Amino acid sequence: MFIDSHCHFDFSYFDGKRDSLMEQLAALNINKLIIPATQKNAWLTISKLASEFNNLYYSLGIHPHFLANFQPQDLYLLEKSLSNKETNCIALGEIGLDKRIDTDLAIQEDVFIQQLRIAQKLNLPVILHIVKQQGRVLQILKQEKFTQGGVYHAFSGSYEVATEFIKLGFKLGIGGVITYPTANKTRETIGRVPIESLVLETDAPDMPLYQQQAKNNSPINLLTIFDVLSSFRSESKSCLATQIYKNTETIFSLNND
Ligand SMILES: [Zn+2]
Repeated sequence: MFIDSHCHFDFSYFDGKRDSLMEQLAALNINKLIIPATQKNAWLTISKLASEFNNLYYSLGIHPHFLANFQPQDLYLLEKSLSNKETNCIALGEIGLDKRIDTDLAIQEDVFIQQLRIAQKLNLPVILHIVKQQGRVLQILKQEKFTQGGVYHAFSGSYEVATEFIKLGFKLGIGGVITYPTANKTRETIGRVPIESLVLETDAPDMPLYQQQAKNNSPINLLTIFDVLSSFRSESKSCLATQIYKNTETIFSLNND
């Protein structure tokens, strides 16, 4: 069985496709999806959507790409919503720092740190979005004494950086990046890190796989990502799949069913 630990199932791209997609996923043994929130306006939609299916889980949070309309009271609302959360709301995210976008990094850091504090207070893991800011995020996690861990979504990078995040209680979200032959460093890293540190994700409908760049991504592609990952690992496919499933359940305290 498999879990897509990062799928934007609430995005309008999936409108009208969700029921049939859930059936296809079940047939492929992909039996759980986690929907990470990106902005306040989506929180309600996501929690409603997650209540329509048994196997959907979600997080609430403010993604650095969606800070244009950010208001300080959004953080109060976030804390309040997470304090009274449903059992299928399992994390705070996605949050982080992104150097590619125009939003001032000082603003991104402020919102990131405040969300980390909420997660720490409520004992929730976080889903991290990091672009060209690995060192700074590590510094902040240490300085904030953040102990809840979570997932470094769409991980790419060196073995040394991966190890630093693992030490802080993070799993590495392995996604479409590794299907690109140019991702040598990341491929080398994911072949060596402890099996307990791996979780799978698609980031669908974003992050198309190699040779599918013109298409929207789908959670169905999780199995392709898994195949590529297993080609870099020494374990058998069944052992790898079982452990990854367990890792995802553990980090997000998913209900056993
Ligand atoms: Zn995402």
